[in-house]
Amino acid sequence: MDSPFFDLDHLLTRSGPFANAGFEACVELREFVHSSVRVLVIGAGGLGCELLHSLAKSGFGELEVIDMDTIDVSNLNRQFLFRAADVGKYKADVAAAFVEARCPGVSDDAFYRSFNLIIAGLDSIKARSWISAKLVSLAATDASGAVDMSTVIPLIDGGTEAFKGQARVMLPRISACFQCSISAFPPQRAFQLCTIANTPRKPEHCIAYAMNVLWEAEFGSDRVLDKDSVEDVTWVMTAAAARGAEYGITGITYQLTQGVMKNIIPAIASTNALIAGACVLEAIKIATNCASYLDNWFMYIGDSGINTRTFAWERDESCSVCGLCRITKVVSGRFMTLGELRSSLVDDAALQLVSPSLRGGGKTLYMETGPLKKLTQANLDKTLSEVVSSGTEISVTDANGAVVLVTVVFEEEEGDAGDGAAV
Ligand SMILES: [Zn+2]
Repeated sequence: MDSPFFDLDHLLTRSGPFANAGFEACVELREFVHSSVRVLVIGAGGLGCELLHSLAKSGFGELEVIDMDTIDVSNLNRQFLFRAADVGKYKADVAAAFVEARCPGVSDDAFYRSFNLIIAGLDSIKARSWISAKLVSLAATDASGAVDMSTVIPLIDGGTEAFKGQARVMLPRISACFQCSISAFPPQRAFQLCTIANTPRKPEHCIAYAMNVLWEAEFGSDRVLDKDSVEDVTWVMTAAAARGAEYGITGITYQLTQGVMKNIIPAIASTNALIAGACVLEAIKIATNCASYLDNWFMYIGDSGINTRTFAWERDESCSVCGLCRITKVVSGRFMTLGELRSSLVDDAALQLVSPSLRGGGKTLYMETGPLKKLTQANLDKTLSEVVSSGTEISVTDANGAVVLVTVVFEEEEGDAGDGAAV
């Protein structure tokens, strides 16, 4: 019983009725988990910390962590990518600099490829979407479309919101990616307390901070914040605007303040611990083959008793990230510019495009990065009929790995643009 790995050894050194076919129980597996399985944890907030804790306790010894928050002194004892000189810097920048210093010339892709498993403990849909798409882009396929398994890096995605949580196993190009299930996530309106306290980036973060921290600092427990009182909402709005000014954040209105005040969701430590445990268990199963891993979604609902269930979310064959997404747009070739078409694609929430480049009719129409950006920038102001013909298939590729094929069909328009009749 003295060994910290007593329970793990039971799992790895004995076979059993639930062991996977082909599982070879042996004591060397523990050493394998400890020194050969490289795990990247993304997100070092409440859930990320629980993940690191559970991974270390489960014998994983090759751990790295990246996050987008700034680093403070209290982070340093648990995050080995960071040094004292890094305090106050953004973690992702430091992590990128660390990778560059330790492995000069190693690209972002090579960095992610160096891991056997990636576990995400993020509170942002965008960030989770991004890492899922990144791993899809790293999974290679041959000419027949078969996936090269040696390039598949499993993603275990944990998420918590108050008393609810989920753990998912995603095998890029094999099972559903994050984008395949984007419809399951309502637009985000609530914020984790750690984000609003340390790294406000949006007006909403300042409002949440004002109502949760500044209100109590000002009034203590004598006065309970009344979310329906004009006076109280105005106080929160004013305090939030002052905090926003410190961080260069604007756009704090009365209406927004009221909206945020009625939607705040606290972080619950026990939910984080439970979901981290579920994620790390999947990591052990994937790393050692000791039992079948989750296929592919575990859901926990703890606000009205304890309810859990698992189900397999189907892969979307037309997913814009891991499938082939084709859409047709009927547009005005004479009046819509290439830039407007591009904006309309970015605004389409279902496509999850951030900064796409466009190719069509055998030429580059607009390139978001590199020397071609300068050369193609002017095309954004041209009308579609000036740059392509009706029926052209435009290949839209995004920095996050998504590819969408858009066929533009021009509306039949009567009259001459010059006489004003068609305007
Ligand atoms: Zn997908």
